Amino acid sequence: MLNLSTCIQESARKYPTRTAYVFGETELNYAQINGAANQVANGLVAKGIKPGDKVALSCLNLPYFPIIYYGILKAGAAVVPLSVLLKKDEIAYHLADSEAKAYFCFIGTEDLPMGKMGYDGFQQANSCKDFFMVMPKPEMPSSIEGTQTLGSLMNGQSPLFDTVQTGAEDTAVVIYTSGTTGKPKGAELTHNSLLQNAILSADLVTMNTDDTVLIVLPLFHIFAMTVLMNSAAYRGAKSVLLPKFDAESVFFLLQEHKVTVFAGVPSMYWGLLHYTDDKFDYAQIAANLKICASGGAALPVNVLEEFEARFKVNILEGYGMSEGSPVVTFNQLDLGRKPGSVGKPVWGVDVKIVDAEDNEVPVGEKGELIYRGHNVMKGYLNRPEANAETLKNGWLHSGDVAVKDSDGFFFIVDRTKEMIIRGGLNVYPREVEEVIMQHDAVSMVAVIGIPNERRGEEIRACVVLKPGQTISEEDLIAWTKERIAAYKYPRQIRFMDALPMSATGKILKKEISRD
Ligand code: ATP
Ligand code: MG
Repeated sequence: MLNLSTCIQESARKYPTRTAYVFGETELNYAQINGAANQVANGLVAKGIKPGDKVALSCLNLPYFPIIYYGILKAGAAVVPLSVLLKKDEIAYHLADSEAKAYFCFIGTEDLPMGKMGYDGFQQANSCKDFFMVMPKPEMPSSIEGTQTLGSLMNGQSPLFDTVQTGAEDTAVVIYTSGTTGKPKGAELTHNSLLQNAILSADLVTMNTDDTVLIVLPLFHIFAMTVLMNSAAYRGAKSVLLPKFDAESVFFLLQEHKVTVFAGVPSMYWGLLHYTDDKFDYAQIAANLKICASGGAALPVNVLEEFEARFKVNILEGYGMSEGSPVVTFNQLDLGRKPGSVGKPVWGVDVKIVDAEDNEVPVGEKGELIYRGHNVMKGYLNRPEANAETLKNGWLHSGDVAVKDSDGFFFIVDRTKEMIIRGGLNVYPREVEEVIMQHDAVSMVAVIGIPNERRGEEIRACVVLKPGQTISEEDLIAWTKERIAAYKYPRQIRFMDALPMSATGKILKKEISRD
């Protein structure tokens, strides 16, 4: 018997008056959060939600998120977190695909709730009009029929609830992959996988009871959910919530709340480095910061080095994915670290680099990264074919190409699907991107393959220049040609104003025009 909501329940028992979440001017302690989650659980049971049912949740980083998340879990149901950026048709797809019985959808604006209302306001019946719960399975969140506010769901419900005794291998969360390479798939993660991954994450980022963590990574994505929200709840730490990334707000909150733990995706570190307004006391911010973590995409070594030099703090890079709850490898303080590497396998997880026949390749050779352990998903919901491809003998096939060095550190080369085959030779875009990124005029780059009659594919770099910088296509090609093998340098450059990005800061290459 195990339930992931034990994270919040135990901290409420041990540290009832400690602040759990800070949002704007509102602070909610562990007892209040746990009590509100219990009210949600009671409300869901009253509405007929049964253990094993799926309940979708679409919410910005606001205290509502953990309250509803843990409330659903307490009722024995599984949470289906949905990106707040989804559009009407996508929402319908996710709700149908996940077989959600109910859907919580935040429809307020970012500066409306909690911040001004405070806990008392939140408790008042029907005061919480920013949130709708829709039942039964809706086509659309705004189909008013069958909807009610969160306030009316919680109104009159007891703040006590006897958590449903779920099994360790029961599904706790169905999380949709980011959709970087295709349509998002729902990965079924268990109470056991998520709890173990949260506990080991707390160790990895040295999250302690007296720490303050800034959560700007979206909570609906697996990185923030496990590494920040669940691990902070497990340790009884304080979380400062920020619904949307902008460098100024991040620096303001880091300073204001003396934040000690920060995690971000590479584009956030890049954004912070490029913000240099002198209105903040960066020395003080640096002195408070104890540790930073990065994941979700490759952190360019120059960004890591510049950030570490400026803020006198280590950025520990890890590698993970929705299917792995998410953490698979991490630069662990006790095992040494290597910039550019994603570190070593985390506790209880085995990692191998294999060839197409699943045979382990020698150290230093490229192959597909596969892993097994507590963190592996049960499977993609209702996708037998994808499961047969991805899960073989308990080993999860990541679709990522990687290398292990002689010290046991792993390096992610690229995604299998993004490899370019030019004239029969394999080119990994990330290697080319790392080189182009070193050019002073370049702000961001995505290297893609363009269909080509003669060579199968041709290499194109889509480049965003830094403000005020100019360089010609010929000059940038020539510059790259000097630094990389002849078959790898880009034959075409397209200058762009911006690159399409996902909610979690990944460049969406499939959305870049191939014309
Ligand atoms: P989809 O599977 O739907 O195409 P996705 O793979 O982007 O989307 P996620 O589960 O959010 O969905 O992301 C996991 C992927 O992110 C990994 O498989 C890997 O390609 C990439 N990734 C994660 N961490 C790192 C890292 N530190 N360095 C390089 N790539 C990383
Ligand atoms: Mg994936």
